[in-house]
Amino acid sequence: MQAKAVEADGVGLFRTEFLFMSRDTWPDEDEQFEAYKSVVKTMAGKPVTVRTLDVGADKELEGATRAEDNPALGLRAIRFCLSEPKMFLIQLRALLRASHFGKLKILIPMLASSHEIDQTLILLDKARAQLRERKIKFDEAVQVGGMIEVPAAALCLGAFTRKLDFLSIGTNDLIQYTLAIDRGNEAVAHMYNPLHPAVLRLIHMTIQAGAKAGIPVSVCGEMAGDPDCARLLIGMGLRQFSMHPAQILEVKQEILRADAVDLTPKVQRLLKLDEPDRVREAVEKL
Ligand code: PEP
Ligand code: MG
Repeated sequence: MQAKAVEADGVGLFRTEFLFMSRDTWPDEDEQFEAYKSVVKTMAGKPVTVRTLDVGADKELEGATRAEDNPALGLRAIRFCLSEPKMFLIQLRALLRASHFGKLKILIPMLASSHEIDQTLILLDKARAQLRERKIKFDEAVQVGGMIEVPAAALCLGAFTRKLDFLSIGTNDLIQYTLAIDRGNEAVAHMYNPLHPAVLRLIHMTIQAGAKAGIPVSVCGEMAGDPDCARLLIGMGLRQFSMHPAQILEVKQEILRADAVDLTPKVQRLLKLDEPDRVREAVEKL
């Protein structure tokens, strides 16, 4: 596995969609369990953050998702899973079973409201009870985190930090939903700007809220793997980066060269800027 080869500290985002794609039937509990167990065992005790099914919009599943006028705003990710509780319970049981074989963390995508967290945690409790009944072992202390990729989540972080064990900022979607730019639409691709001040403020708020609540925050969207953003994110207080293994060495070098004490006040000033072009200039000077 690539992550192990480049000595990553763990797997920050294991996308489970690929298990469900290009097939007519969904994988059953045993098939999912074997897949999750395999990655957890390969990482030999290092944390593996597995994201529950994120389907819809740019991630179509054959026959599963309905035709919607606005799929990115529709029955996507956790919304889809909560609408298919039987399917979701199978995945949650498979994840819990795999947690017995290493350090597995469960990550919930595209949360927008606290009631979605509540419903997810209730289903997780149900999955735990079902496994106990079957006398199957799992990690009782398995951590559950939420992705911050909708502005509503970044603006109501209290509910997230109270109910969850960690947060992971999905910048790909956070940019899309903050700027109202379809991440897959070429016609507006030039306006998809990770350095838009609105995006940066939401990221900063999330990192700060996590620090205040004492819960870990990582960034797992493309921004985390962009060496040009490393100093900016360090200056915002970020200490956990999740990226494609191919980017680790370059970003690690940037991080090792960065001086957080020097960067923090510079980034504070940069966050007050309202014009995207001026933000870009300030980031280049960091
Ligand atoms: C994100 O949105 O930043 C993310 C990591 O998830 P995905 O790209 O799979 O939607
Ligand atoms: Mg996403």
